[in-house]
Amino acid sequence: MALTALEIYKLLPKTNCKECGFPTCLAFAMQIAAGKAGIDQCPPASEEAKETLGAASAPPLPKVIVGTGERAVILGDEVVLYRHEKTFYHPTAFAISVSDALDDDAFRDRIRRIRSLSFERMGETLAVDMVAVRCDSGDPARFAAAAAAAKEGAGKPLLLSGPCDALAAALPSLGPDRPLLSPPVGEGEAGARLAAPLGLPLVVRAKGIDGLEKALAAARAAGACDLVADPMPASLPDAVSLSVYLRRLAILHRAREVAFPTAFDLGNGFPSPFAAASLLVPKYGSLLVLDSDDPADIFPLLTLRQNIFTDPQKPIQVEAGIYPIGKANGSSPVVITTNFSLTFFTVRSDIEASRVPAHLLIADCDGMSVLTAWAAGRFTGESIAKILSESGIAGAVSHRTLILPGMVARLSGKIEELSGWRVLVGPQESSALPSYLRRLPPAAFAPADV
Ligand code: SF4
Repeated sequence: MALTALEIYKLLPKTNCKECGFPTCLAFAMQIAAGKAGIDQCPPASEEAKETLGAASAPPLPKVIVGTGERAVILGDEVVLYRHEKTFYHPTAFAISVSDALDDDAFRDRIRRIRSLSFERMGETLAVDMVAVRCDSGDPARFAAAAAAAKEGAGKPLLLSGPCDALAAALPSLGPDRPLLSPPVGEGEAGARLAAPLGLPLVVRAKGIDGLEKALAAARAAGACDLVADPMPASLPDAVSLSVYLRRLAILHRAREVAFPTAFDLGNGFPSPFAAASLLVPKYGSLLVLDSDDPADIFPLLTLRQNIFTDPQKPIQVEAGIYPIGKANGSSPVVITTNFSLTFFTVRSDIEASRVPAHLLIADCDGMSVLTAWAAGRFTGESIAKILSESGIAGAVSHRTLILPGMVARLSGKIEELSGWRVLVGPQESSALPSYLRRLPPAAFAPADV
């Protein structure tokens, strides 16, 4: 049972020394109760308090690590139910399945296609995280060889899905790589005995919350610690309601018995797998297994994940400065915008599409888009005039003509007055930039008398 803020406060030194970064011990106690701080942040705390509060301050959803090194995947370790309360830390992981029943060529081709599911968007690489090797052959030796080949070929952490004799056959060569073991229903305890001595993570599968609670308790009793819960939904609504229910039990009720990251196998004929995945990304699925390796199916899901798991308090931004596009030279147009990543990459790709070499001048607006930055007073006539004089753009071009986003056309007069540059009002939407740039007469960028 979780402790209340008052119960936690009674265990603290009550000196209000502020070493924890909070103004009072009571404020700190409230943060621990909300799962947003840990007792290790209070150096003067007694050993008794540390022991008692250790459990209370542990994250309501435990962390489970699959794989090792840079490609390790972290499941769970979340502290809030809604992103605006703080943030979501660990994005939903995607695993694409491969069957050990495929012949060698088809298996290699499938692994190659899974590995190629990687896309660039807004300066980030979006890729699937894991390979789920399914034991469809019923042959432990064949499964072990398939798992080893998947590890070698994909270079991603593995989810090993099959009966315990097949998992045991695969582990001698894979154990140090921390694969996630997923035995079938009815072999949960045997799977736990396999995972426990090696400290491996384990998927516990059982139908519904009650079944899951019993199966998780049995796995823990058998010594397995790093557990992932699969409630085995039969339909899309079932999957979403179980996922939400489990997360609410974990975060709001601190129900440790069922508070584990979740896995949903949306392959093997699951109805509407992509609709289910698109709902489980925002609604708490920790790991989703899909059968499709079609980029048209996977890219939208990765894009959705990128949007949901972007920290709203830290807009994705690029560095301010001058970005030459194409063979930009002294007579190329200068286009200005803000350093919000989505704005930057959109404008840059529209300029590239125009095939008109240009200089893209990026203003530091704390990652805000053009209109937001203007409304916040970060993209103004004064700030743009300052950028024109301090960024070095005046030395990079021989003309003094700036293309301003059409959304902030009203700034043009002030910029011209303060900087001496001539302002051309660009289109309202970046998508109109290619035709706009192609129509500009070269005379617009004739050398200025400076
Ligand atoms: Fe209180 Fe500990 Fe924070 Fe000091 S560090 S204010 S004793 S909670």
